Amino acid sequence: MSSKHPITVAVGDGIGPEIMEATLNILDRAGAMIEPEFIDIGEKVYLSGQSAGIADEAWESLRRTKVFLKAPITTPQGGGYKSLNVTIRKSLGLYANVRPNISYDPFVKTKHPDMDLVIIRENEEDLYAGIEHQQTPEVVQCLKIISRPGSEKIIRYAFEYARKNNRKKVTCFSKDNIMKLTDGLFHKVFKEIAQEYPDIETEHWIIDIGIAKIADTPQDFDVIVMPNLYGDIASDVAAQISGSVGLAGSANIGDQCAMFEAIHGSAPDIAGKGIANPSGLLHGAIMMLVHIGQPEVAARIHNAWLKTLEDGIYTGDIAKGGPSVGTMAFAEAVISRL
Ligand code: NAD
Repeated sequence: MSSKHPITVAVGDGIGPEIMEATLNILDRAGAMIEPEFIDIGEKVYLSGQSAGIADEAWESLRRTKVFLKAPITTPQGGGYKSLNVTIRKSLGLYANVRPNISYDPFVKTKHPDMDLVIIRENEEDLYAGIEHQQTPEVVQCLKIISRPGSEKIIRYAFEYARKNNRKKVTCFSKDNIMKLTDGLFHKVFKEIAQEYPDIETEHWIIDIGIAKIADTPQDFDVIVMPNLYGDIASDVAAQISGSVGLAGSANIGDQCAMFEAIHGSAPDIAGKGIANPSGLLHGAIMMLVHIGQPEVAARIHNAWLKTLEDGIYTGDIAKGGPSVGTMAFAEAVISRL
């Protein structure tokens, strides 16, 4: 039998510990060959006085295992400490954020039964570069950074992803009618790289109508590539209209390391109640298993998860007022179908 793959695990804040316990139980019972190394990040670490929100030993684990399964963490709004999510993505060079959004009709209620799209979000640049400053007492500025190498890397990644996954079309979203230099560069690079992939259909939409089209006719999209902030917003819209923001997982891919998580946040409004949907993190973990070469275990878990939904077992966000189970009971239901 092959040896266990070391992975770094952070249980996060809010609903993080609940959904991580559920996810790790499922992975364990499915026979995933992983050796979790737990690290502390987020609120607990900030409150202990470490302003980076992550300790040196945690970086050491991440650089050694190169695979990170991370539950959501809380980041204060409008002030306070810097987003650790952004720091981790930048420090580990996780340039591609891959966010699949699929309908599970008729088992998860959605107005969009044929939706099956993948958002590829640039993960290191744009307004998330973190260059924000006070210019005068009444004026603040945030710099939007788009580079040619960064754009080439993410756009080529999107086309390669499409080829590898037998997808037919890559769409680009930008706002190059207004931000002619930054988004203009992103769109220009898209058109250049598209020439290298004559087998793949391409199109471009301005971001506002693009997201409106996702909300209305998501089945018209296949792979969509876009700058960082737009990708963050578009993927929450896509997950929500597929049934719940609690469904979608995400892979953050770099040349050396990779991080897997749910797309949603720490949901402080339902934390500690045992009702959160663990599916987003589980989908992140399924992508992780494929990444570390355990696709059979990934498929077994995904099939058990689908069977759970087919059997009408839902967490509250999916049940939408109908009968529902809590986080751990949902995980047990998946385990009993492995
Ligand atoms: P959120 O995604 O945490 O919650 C939005 C809404 O969706 C809430 O009503 C919540 O209850 C619901 N929801 C989210 N996940 C759910 C799940 N698994 N099951 C059932 N319902 C679920 O967004 P927010 O409230 O804007 O952010 C809360 C905190 O999370 C903030 O501090 C934010 O910075 C942080 N955040 C972290 C990450 C991350 O760690 N990757 C991502 C997004 C937001």
